[in-house]
Amino acid sequence: MTDSRAGIDCDQCGTCCKVFGDSISPTIENVYQWLTNDRLDILRHFSACFANGTWKKCSELKVDELGDIITVEMRDPDTGTLVSACPFLSRVSKTRYLCSIHMAKPEMCDNYKPWIWGETYLRRCRTIREQERKTTWQDENIN
Ligand code: SF4
Ligand code: SF4
Repeated sequence: MTDSRAGIDCDQCGTCCKVFGDSISPTIENVYQWLTNDRLDILRHFSACFANGTWKKCSELKVDELGDIITVEMRDPDTGTLVSACPFLSRVSKTRYLCSIHMAKPEMCDNYKPWIWGETYLRRCRTIREQERKTTWQDENIN
């Protein structure tokens, strides 16, 4: 979920977060920022894998361990198993969803643009569907 990109505003339907939210992988810079800002509420939802194959909850990491991490995955904080939905997606009305960590969300969420054809295009994005509807309406009324 994004807010505004290249003049295109997110309609907050939550679809992209529902589709991709179970496999969010933060950067090491994201983890560093969360550690130094005591964001245990975020860190507890991720686990880190080290070069030697061992795993550790991100909430238990030390800053000097970050250089040995090869990947970070979203994991259930209690069981350590993979999750089926992003825990940060918050439903605020019948058709509107918000990211509860919007100002500190992972870089891949911040950069996501569902309207980039051939790369990250998501046909179900409500913003895209609304733009297509307007374009069709304009075409029909110009011709
Ligand atoms: S962290 Fe926020 S933006 Fe990213 S998938 Fe979850 S709810 Fe969506
Ligand atoms: S699918 Fe599109 S409109 Fe819906 S939350 Fe994602 S970017 Fe926003």
